[in-house]
Amino acid sequence: KTTIDKIAAGEVVERPASVVKELTENAIDASSTAITIEIKDGGNSFIRITDNGGGIPADQVRKAFMRHATSKIRTVDDLVQIATLGFRGEALSSISAVARVECITKTPEALTGVRYWVEGGKEIEFEEIGAPSGTTMIVRNLFFNTPARAKFLKSGMTEGNHVAHVVEELALSHPEISFKFLSNGQSRLYTSGNGNLKEIIYQIFGRDLTRELIPVDKKTELMSIHGFIGNPGAARANRNFENYFVNGRFVKDRILGKAIEDAYHGFLMQHRFPFTLLYIRIDGTKVDVNVHPSKMEVRFSSQEEIYHTLCLALQNALMQRER
Ligand code: ADP
Ligand code: MG
Repeated sequence: KTTIDKIAAGEVVERPASVVKELTENAIDASSTAITIEIKDGGNSFIRITDNGGGIPADQVRKAFMRHATSKIRTVDDLVQIATLGFRGEALSSISAVARVECITKTPEALTGVRYWVEGGKEIEFEEIGAPSGTTMIVRNLFFNTPARAKFLKSGMTEGNHVAHVVEELALSHPEISFKFLSNGQSRLYTSGNGNLKEIIYQIFGRDLTRELIPVDKKTELMSIHGFIGNPGAARANRNFENYFVNGRFVKDRILGKAIEDAYHGFLMQHRFPFTLLYIRIDGTKVDVNVHPSKMEVRFSSQEEIYHTLCLALQNALMQRER
C-alpha cells in the first residue's frame, strides 16, 4: 500500500501549498463556516488546518485515509455533476504517505471525538478523545520519508509565499467562509466570512483596487456571473489579477480569460490586464472538472455561449461606467 501511495502522492502533494489546498478544500466541503490555517517554516515542518465543519464519524476515520476512499461521490450521476471540491479520495492517503499526520475530529452528534495518528502511511495511534465539533489536521515533516522529494522543497520563505497565495485564492473563492491564516505565529490574512466582496478585495489587494470597482451581475439560463471588475485605469502589468471562479473553484481557463480580455478591448493599452473577481455559476452538467489532478482546468460543453455571455456582461458593465 505504502509504495503506491507514495507514487500517487507525487501527483497530489508537490509542496506545502498543495497540502494546504487539499486540506482546506476538505474543510470547505465539510460545510465549515470558519477555517484557520497555520504554518511554520513555510509549511515544510508544520501545517495545521482547523475547521468547524461536519467532522468525520469515528468509524469512518481510518477509511478516510485509504486510497480512493471518498464520501463525496456515491453515484454515476454525482460524477457527472460534481458539487464538492474533492472527489477523488486521494488527498488524505497521499499526504499521510509522505508526512506525519494527526487528525482530530468530531461530528456534532458524537459525544467524543477521535485522534488518529498516521506516519508514512502507517497507523501509529487511534484513540477516543474530547474535542470540539469539526476537524483539525496537522501535517508535520513533509517528505520525511522521501528524501529525494524533500530536496526539492524550497526555503520556508518561498514555500510560505506559495501557501499564502493558495490561501488567498481559497478565501476569495469562498467569501461566505471566515478564513484566518497565520505564518510562524503571525497573522497574515483574516476574512470575516460575511460575504462582503469589497472587504475581501481590500484585505487581499489593498486600497488601490478597492477604490474603483465596477459591479457585474448577469443571469442567463445557462449561467450567472456575479462580482466586480476593475476600472481600466487600474490596469495591471500581468494576468495575476484576473480572478474567476467556476462553481466555487478557482480556475485558469483559456476561454474565460479570453472573454475577459476581449471585453476590455479598446479600454486597455496593450500588455495591460484587468483586475477581475468574478463568481461564475454554470449548470454542473455543462462543466467537467475531472480533467487534471490539480483541478485548475475545466472543460465546458457550450464554450461559445459561455464566451459570449461573459464577454457581453463585462462590456455592458464597462459601458455603464462610461455614462
Ligand atoms: P476527497 O476530498 O476527494 O473525498 P480526501 O482524501 O481529501 O478525498 O478525503 C477523504 C474523505 O475524508 C472525504 O471524502 C471526507 O469524507 C473526509 N474528510 C477529510 N477531511 C475532512 C474534514 N475536514 N471534515 C470532514 N470530513 C473530512
Ligand atoms: Mg479532498
